[in-house]
Amino acid sequence: MSIRTSRVLHRSLRETPPKAVGGEGVYLFAEDGRRIIDASGGAAVSCLGHQHPRVIAAMVKQASTLAYAHTAFFSSEPAEALAETLVGQEPGGLAYAYFVSGGSEAIEASIKLARQYFIERGEPQRQHFIARRQSYHGNTLGALAAGGNAWRRAPYAPLLSSAFSHVTPAFAYHEKHDGESDAQFVARLAAELEAEFQRLGADTIAAFLAEPVVGATAGAVTAPEGYFKAVREICDRHGALLILDEVMCGMGRTGTTHAWQQEGITPDIQAIAKGLGGGYQPIGAMLASGKIIDTIRSGSGAFQHGHTYLAHPLACAAALAVQNVIREDRLLDRVKERGKQLEQRLTERFGNHRHVGDIRGRGLFWAIELVADRASRTSFDPALKLHQKIKAEAFANGLGCYPGGGTVDGVRGDHVLLAPPYIASADEIDQIVDKLGTAVDNVV
Ligand code: PLP
Repeated sequence: MSIRTSRVLHRSLRETPPKAVGGEGVYLFAEDGRRIIDASGGAAVSCLGHQHPRVIAAMVKQASTLAYAHTAFFSSEPAEALAETLVGQEPGGLAYAYFVSGGSEAIEASIKLARQYFIERGEPQRQHFIARRQSYHGNTLGALAAGGNAWRRAPYAPLLSSAFSHVTPAFAYHEKHDGESDAQFVARLAAELEAEFQRLGADTIAAFLAEPVVGATAGAVTAPEGYFKAVREICDRHGALLILDEVMCGMGRTGTTHAWQQEGITPDIQAIAKGLGGGYQPIGAMLASGKIIDTIRSGSGAFQHGHTYLAHPLACAAALAVQNVIREDRLLDRVKERGKQLEQRLTERFGNHRHVGDIRGRGLFWAIELVADRASRTSFDPALKLHQKIKAEAFANGLGCYPGGGTVDGVRGDHVLLAPPYIASADEIDQIVDKLGTAVDNVV
């Protein structure tokens, strides 16, 4: 019997998902007429929801003016304006933007820029990168090598660069010892990172790479206060760069444009993507500090990298419109306000739930973690694939949410990630929590 249902290679080769045929605000419409609340914006992408009229108008205008011009020959008005918006006004040393087509490309560019910077500085021995376990930095081979998701890495292990090593993540729910204070936890993680620098040779480290709020792999994991200051200090002391991956947690998702603004530090290089274009076009960016670009400018004079769709004019125009709407409509205030509501509602609904061990997040970026036993924090058997069951149950009831879990580096946390659009109303936030509650109760 043939199991082919579509010529498109979907994520599952056994079933074809329903077609999405339209969208409006926080809703997506399926071909069978169902309205789905897009409570995770896909994977924290659709920050303005769907079919935002000002973004559509800007895209139509740009498409009818200039859709594409190769960057070997031309810059474009939307690319220049978007860069001014992103790095012309923010505090900190990030001064240049390099536009690519998504998060993995932004990470690849970040890694290569760091490497080239040290070659041009006369430190070619800096060829190691330290990242963290239970992280996700993308699915292309370089980004996969950087990430710490054991399950995703395993089949491709022979193809992955050994330039990356991984240390313990700042994941308090699973990694903090009983009786350990936040300060002690931070000090322990910092000591481990310092030891990794020493093990590899401190002058061979190019950069430390981390997500300020871990998204897909662990589910909205924020670091304890002081953690990022500690890693920044270690990088500075050893002359290494700090690369932050804000592909998922950036561009307003946590209540500030960049999540690092809440950590009291500035990265040297940063990757952004999802909330940059809000899903209206495929776009990501690497933001880089002036010191790095000035070094290369006065050295070889060119970043030795590139893709066909760099700084695509239509993608940049869409992202510019998304960022203008966020600023003009003061949506970061809304993220903070609705974020508090989401936290409160999740706490009311799941705070005493016998199978919800942790509720965590920031801004409009929250997750619940499911456990078989709260006291011992024991996860469910990953073979049960509970997070997938909750996703299916929620979807059947009109809720789109982003599940994660399975066995990841030995930490078996089924979780559900919520990342609603910044335009969500108070009522829509309530509906999201109600529907998630029903789905969880029906499954566990
Ligand atoms: N980095 C992080 C933190 C992500 O969450 C993702 C995607 O989920 C990526 C990188 C890769 O981005 P993309 O899927 O756009 O290549």
